[in-house]
Amino acid sequence: MKKQEKPTCPHCQARLLKWLPPPEASWGTTIQYVCFNDECSYYKNGWDHMMNKFQVKASYRYRLDSETGAHGPLPVWSDNAVRNLIVEEGGES
Ligand SMILES: [Zn+2]
Repeated sequence: MKKQEKPTCPHCQARLLKWLPPPEASWGTTIQYVCFNDECSYYKNGWDHMMNKFQVKASYRYRLDSETGAHGPLPVWSDNAVRNLIVEEGGES
């Protein structure tokens, strides 16, 4: 797949941030692009959806696989969850 320059979120148009999945995730070590905009409709609606459907306080952020282009939800349990795994911007070579 062609390298995307600056992918954006289809839900809020925010620029996606590079994010490295934890070892236990099924995406291996492939860099993921994730929308970390707390105002994103996808993320905001996720809280209601998870509470209504599963009675859990959780949500998900928009995720795009940098290698395959596949996208899907990245489950989170708080505004700050998994932010520590964001890869620093600007280190592109
Ligand atoms: Zn978004």
